[in-house]
Amino acid sequence: MVGKSVFVKLSSPRQYLSSLETGRMFDLVVGSGNAHKVAELRALLPNQMFRLTSLAELDAPLDVEETGATFAENARLKATVQARHLGRWVLAEDSGLEVDALGGRPGVLSARYAGRHGDDAANNRKLIEELVGVPVDRRAASFRCFVCVAAPDGSPRLEVDDACRGRIGDEPLGSGGFGYDPLFLIPEYHQTFGQLGATIKNVLSHRSRALRRLLPGLVALALSEGVR
Ligand code: IMP
Repeated sequence: MVGKSVFVKLSSPRQYLSSLETGRMFDLVVGSGNAHKVAELRALLPNQMFRLTSLAELDAPLDVEETGATFAENARLKATVQARHLGRWVLAEDSGLEVDALGGRPGVLSARYAGRHGDDAANNRKLIEELVGVPVDRRAASFRCFVCVAAPDGSPRLEVDDACRGRIGDEPLGSGGFGYDPLFLIPEYHQTFGQLGATIKNVLSHRSRALRRLLPGLVALALSEGVR
C-alpha cells in the first residue's frame, strides 16, 4: 500500500490558514514509547496546529503488544487499541528496516532483531555479521514507515505509508539518530543517517515522507473535527 492515503479528502488551504490565525490546536497522543520517534514526529508536524503528547507524559497508557505480522497491522493495533483505552486521538507508527539481500529481514522484527527489544547496538552488530561478504552493490535496503491515526472510539481514520531507500554499510558511522541510522547510508550523500543529522534525516527519511503524505488528511481531519 506504499503511497496510499485512505479515508480522507484534501482540506482547503484557506481553512487551514484560518485555523492557524485563531491559534486553535488539534491534540494527538503519539502511541509510541520510543523517545527518538516522538522527537522526530514533533519536528515533522506543524506545531501551530498539532499538539503532540507522548505516552511518557500520560498517567496510564497501555503497553500495546506488537502482535501483527506486518507494519500496517502493528501501526493500526498501536493506534486503535491505545485510542480506545485513552478515549483520545492517537497517531501511531510502526517502522523498520528491510534489507534486500536478507529477503526483507529484519522487517517487523527490527526492534528486537538480536533478541532484546530496543537493543540498537546488538541489532546493528547482528546486521553487520549477516552481511559479511555481501558486496556493496547488493547491500540495498529500505526503511519503511506505516502511520495510523485513530479516533477516540478506536476507529482507524487515516492510514499512510512510505519508504526511504539506502544501503547498509559495513561499520557504524556517526552518532546521530537511533536504531540502524549509523549503518544506513544515503548513497547520494556518501553518509549515514547517523552522520547526516536530524535536519537532513527529517527531509529524506521514511518517517518524514510518510508524515508529508499524511499531512493533508490530518489537517482535513483536524478541521472537520473542530480544532480546539
Ligand atoms: P517499532 O517500535 O516496532 O516501530 O520499532 C522500530 C525499529 O525499527 C526501531 O527500534 C529501529 O530498530 C528501527 N527503525 C525504525 N525507524 C528507524 C529510523 O528512523 N532509524 C533507525 N532505525 C529505525
